Amino acid sequence: SNNLMAGKRGLIMGLANDKSIAWGIAKALADAGAELAFSYQGEALKKRVGPLAAQLGADTLIECDVSNGESIDTLFDTLKDKWGKLDFVVHAIGFSDKNELRGRYVDTSRANFSMTMDISVYSFTAVCARAADLMTDGGSLLTLTYYGAEQVMPHYNVMGVAKAALEASVKYIAEDLGKNGIRCNAISAGPIKTLAASGIGDFRYIMKWNELNSPLRRNVTQEEVGKAALYLLSDLGSGTTGENLHVDAGYHVVGMKAVDAPDI
Ligand code: NAD
Repeated sequence: SNNLMAGKRGLIMGLANDKSIAWGIAKALADAGAELAFSYQGEALKKRVGPLAAQLGADTLIECDVSNGESIDTLFDTLKDKWGKLDFVVHAIGFSDKNELRGRYVDTSRANFSMTMDISVYSFTAVCARAADLMTDGGSLLTLTYYGAEQVMPHYNVMGVAKAALEASVKYIAEDLGKNGIRCNAISAGPIKTLAASGIGDFRYIMKWNELNSPLRRNVTQEEVGKAALYLLSDLGSGTTGENLHVDAGYHVVGMKAVDAPDI
């Protein structure tokens, strides 16, 4: 453990279970001395999130469905009453109808396009605006994205379009809030087996392909995403904003199948 986050307080959004990327990040932050609050989507998740939060010494659990603006307002009102100020926020939330995370992007429905953009893109912007009001000593905002924003990946479809918009919004938010000493960044994580990922068609194949063809010849872990998050959320990242940091075993630099990769 280290003291990189000693005296800092922040919110983790998007913890569902111990496979969540939010869990890898929360562990790294708690290990570095941060005090954490967690938001969870709906009562069904509370019984999972509660014991995990308790493992990290956190007892602040606040319900928030990000598709509802009042729910986001209530979340930040509660944090304001409890802490007064905030140092960081982790947004590890995305959602799309899994029936559209297979087949052709071009067949995306208007309703699911809107919902995917609302939950996976707009929610980060809405959260940043409210969080910034509490970041009176500056702060750091972080979201999670995927390479399917930059290049076409099988089945990622409307989520890829949403992540492209999310990555663009990170840059605009960095500019808006930079003058208040608030940084805004994304981590582009390689494929990790989580609840959300299991909704993507042929996800096992995608993981295998990344394992065989990334420069490190393996996949990344939640813990490795956690370490990168610690850099961006702590003073180590004080000069970095508007960035999209790839934590993907180097996959994003590769132009073709590795010569030593077998056919799968
Ligand atoms: P996960 O299923 O553990 O987490 C997704 C979270 O989103 C859940 O906690 C869920 O409750 C929350 N969520 C969905 N809709 C919500 C709503 N309306 N209100 C509040 N919360 C809502 O899966 P994960 O893979 O850890 O996903 C976290 C983030 O990481 C997502 O943005 C995902 O796109 C991104 N990501 C994942 C991978 C991967 O391979 N797993 C790779 C790159 C990026």
